[in-house]
Amino acid sequence: MEQKYGYFGQILWVDLSSGTIEKEAIPDQFYEDYIGGYALGAKILFDRMPPKSDPLGPNNIIGFLPGLFTGSSAPFSGRYMVVGKSPLTGTWGDSNSGGFFGPAIKKCSVDGIFFKGVAQNPVYLLYDGTQPHLLSAKQIWGLDAIDTESALKEIHGESAQVACIGTAGEKLSLISCIINNGGRAAARSGLGAVMGSKNLKAVVLNGKEKLSVYAPDRLKDIVRTYNKKIQADPNLLLRIMAKVLPKTISVIARLKFKLKVTPDLWIMASKEQGTSVANAISSETGDSPVKNWKGVGRIDFPQTKSQKISGQQFLKYKKKSYGCAACPLRCGAILSVPEIGLKETHRPEYETSCMFGTFLLNDDVLSILELNEMCNRAGMDTISTGSTIGFAMECYEKGIISDKDTGGIALQWGNAESIKTMLKKMIDRDGLGDILADGVKRASERIGKGSEEYAMHFYGQEIPAHDPKHMPSMALTYNTDPTPGRHTAADTDFFFDVLSVDKIMKEIELPRNRTSAAAKMQSQKIVVALTQVLNALGICQFGFACGRMPVFDLLEAVTGWKWSYGKFIQTGLRIQNLRIAFNLREGINLYLQELPGRITGKDPLRDGPHRNVTIDVDAFKKQYCNIMGWNPETGVPYDATLRDLGLEYVIDQIK
Ligand code: SF4
Repeated sequence: MEQKYGYFGQILWVDLSSGTIEKEAIPDQFYEDYIGGYALGAKILFDRMPPKSDPLGPNNIIGFLPGLFTGSSAPFSGRYMVVGKSPLTGTWGDSNSGGFFGPAIKKCSVDGIFFKGVAQNPVYLLYDGTQPHLLSAKQIWGLDAIDTESALKEIHGESAQVACIGTAGEKLSLISCIINNGGRAAARSGLGAVMGSKNLKAVVLNGKEKLSVYAPDRLKDIVRTYNKKIQADPNLLLRIMAKVLPKTISVIARLKFKLKVTPDLWIMASKEQGTSVANAISSETGDSPVKNWKGVGRIDFPQTKSQKISGQQFLKYKKKSYGCAACPLRCGAILSVPEIGLKETHRPEYETSCMFGTFLLNDDVLSILELNEMCNRAGMDTISTGSTIGFAMECYEKGIISDKDTGGIALQWGNAESIKTMLKKMIDRDGLGDILADGVKRASERIGKGSEEYAMHFYGQEIPAHDPKHMPSMALTYNTDPTPGRHTAADTDFFFDVLSVDKIMKEIELPRNRTSAAAKMQSQKIVVALTQVLNALGICQFGFACGRMPVFDLLEAVTGWKWSYGKFIQTGLRIQNLRIAFNLREGINLYLQELPGRITGKDPLRDGPHRNVTIDVDAFKKQYCNIMGWNPETGVPYDATLRDLGLEYVIDQIK
């Protein structure tokens, strides 16, 4: 085989119905056009999955793909992505996780592992890069995700890397996820249920193959120089800012002063508190949704409460820092919380802390740690789970459900014990928990009685912990990314104006004044394209905000490719249009759907920083279409756009 750099040029196919496992060679052009990770996954699934496949049936394909850089020493490159048709939304589904499972795929000398069919009995895949085996999962079926990983490591050795489902995935919860390394989660899109539907409990990898890179010494130099910058100690000014900022945030927020997080500030804050640094701040600024999207942080969850769940509170439990493969930042932490019997647990992310904290008016920090651990063990998406409990709380408040329905649980805002008990019921699919275990949309359909009004989801997926009224272009992202309601799909306000992702490459040129919808959408196009490529390379999004990254130098050192900025953006647009084409072929056009009124302010808040704010999403959408080469009436890409991007093969299929 011709020498490849950065990839192996082959994927593994596992047919769970027949038990056959084979490798397939992938043309080099696929990597140039789609890079790797979920983008390569989108190409394979678009080509191979029959349209209108049942997401929980044998024709759905679930793929595990590392980024192109994954397995090399390129900074932040430890990510892998899971792809499949989402059972939660029926749309294109993907999810992204860190830890060490991504490089383990490459160590098996493949660029992706795909499963189709349904196994007759529970199985797991064991692969060391030479001989793949499907083994019985009878002994581990019924174990939670963390115990599953431990049990499999005991059998196959500590060096084995495991991605698995917990009991939520086994029970086909549509908000279940896939867990690796004891608490890293490929959480969104409900792909845990796809594994469950296939009777696939785990993927266990133990390969030893080394990835070849084009210029190893050059790569070493680039990485050393870059990592030094990330690992340097913060200067005095930053250290002072870090002390002062949390205490003054309510004043800053009230002055409507736009806080731009510089790369240095981001690096320092991430190293110390990870994303939990935003827990209390975002409640005050209005970024966090409150009380099922109808509340106001400053009023319903003021600083006296939000400070109790701040990132600072987690620090007293910190045992050690945690970093995914090839990460110079190490934003994670392993905590030890003897008060609740947790010897080791992952520090909850901001999204988790918000959805179990601010969103539910819960200021009990220990309960948030416990809820996070419960979700990691069961394998449940914390955003969707918190959101669903918030929905149930509002239904309880409105008298739509009563103690009779909850089994005597007082589902009141801020009641930590009730939240824990209800989560346990969801995991066990017990009583009301069974109704809630498939997320907000299904729950509201089952409960009826007008509960649909309180079901905050977009096309079936629960909406994450960033309020578009705080960052308006987020509404467009929630509305138009092929995975509905997705905050990591990138939007210009969040990535360029709050974080400093525009600093990552010197070639990025944004309109100076981005107040108009047209100018905003110019930069939205760039952020969308940029994010597609960086994701496909396997770079963690927390690395995007760390300032200048020598992306083109890294690309050349890993693969030998010399890319221009134009090709970079073109490739990103190709990936995004292909993911959208997957939905259009399914007959799903998210562009024509509308976000709930509470999210966009159509149903406006009566107080707080977003008092009477309404986002004109339609104005964004029209401008965005003009810039993306899509029909503004339908949101469908014009044929010429698809041809320009080399996607002519989708044209007839999406008509
Ligand atoms: S920044 Fe955090 S999530 Fe990202 S790769 Fe590093 S440790 Fe993992």
